[in-house]
Amino acid sequence: MQQLPFKLIQKNNLTADVYELVFKTQEPVQVEPGQYVLFLLPKLKLRRAYSIGYTNGQNFTFIIKQIEGGAGSTEVCSTEIGEEIIGMVPLGHFVLKANTTPKLFIGTGTGFAPLYFQIRAMMDSGIETPIMYIFGIRTTSDIFYIDELNRIKKEYPMFDYQIFLSQEDSENTVRGRVTDFLTEENLAPYGEFYLCGSPAMVKDARERLEASGVEKEKVFFEQY
Ligand SMILES: Cc1cc2nc3c(=O)[nH]c(=O)nc-3n(C[C@H](O)[C@H](O)[C@H](O)COP(=O)(O)OP(=O)(O)OC[C@H]3O[C@@H](n4cnc5c(N)ncnc54)[C@H](O)[C@@H]3O)c2cc1C
Repeated sequence: MQQLPFKLIQKNNLTADVYELVFKTQEPVQVEPGQYVLFLLPKLKLRRAYSIGYTNGQNFTFIIKQIEGGAGSTEVCSTEIGEEIIGMVPLGHFVLKANTTPKLFIGTGTGFAPLYFQIRAMMDSGIETPIMYIFGIRTTSDIFYIDELNRIKKEYPMFDYQIFLSQEDSENTVRGRVTDFLTEENLAPYGEFYLCGSPAMVKDARERLEASGVEKEKVFFEQY
């Protein structure tokens, strides 16, 4: 684990309250898909963890929700281009298993970040195995990275995704919670399960997987 400066080089609004932030490190850093950086925020002296959404080893993309009244997320999302934040990296055990087992990924909101890195890593490695991503958000205004999901789907026919909206009916989406997907029939093709999102979603999903006979060792999760 190292402690080093991350310089902000790009900042984009993905939705009204979700930002894509790209930081650059001076030296390349080795991380595994699913790991996170612990930022030491200089102004309020807070420590906050953010999953790595993607990296080539030196450019680190994060997907961060600016929470109303959230001190840490507001400080990170207010960082200006060129400013540096010290980060501790790599951290975390929510890592992708590099094997050919078909995988189901379930994420809500910015819980997509580590899953996106894991999905990209699977695709980039050339492993040909079915991968499904179930993306849960409240309304269509919360959707982000849709062009990216469609690009991956086009390039890798083994990948597919479904968007679950909990508070809106809309074309090409399912009305409901991501856990509604977890029927025995839908689970049957998959052998590993990666969950990331709120503690309530992760708890519910784990209980449903267990009730369907999925072994605990096949379920990996991160919650925030
Ligand atoms: C391993 C790990 C990886 C993480 N990766 C990401 C990531 O990739 N992107 C990301 O956006 N966040 C991520 N988080 C969450 C992040 O670390 C902070 O907890 C989050 O940004 C809130 O911090 P804050 O200081 O803004 O809010 P705080 O000041 O700590 O909390 C303010 C209020 O917001 C509520 N709150 C806290 N978190 C949330 C939430 N997620 N949704 C709604 N309300 C909340 C609190 O209950 C409190 O009432 C991760 C957390 C962990 C542990």
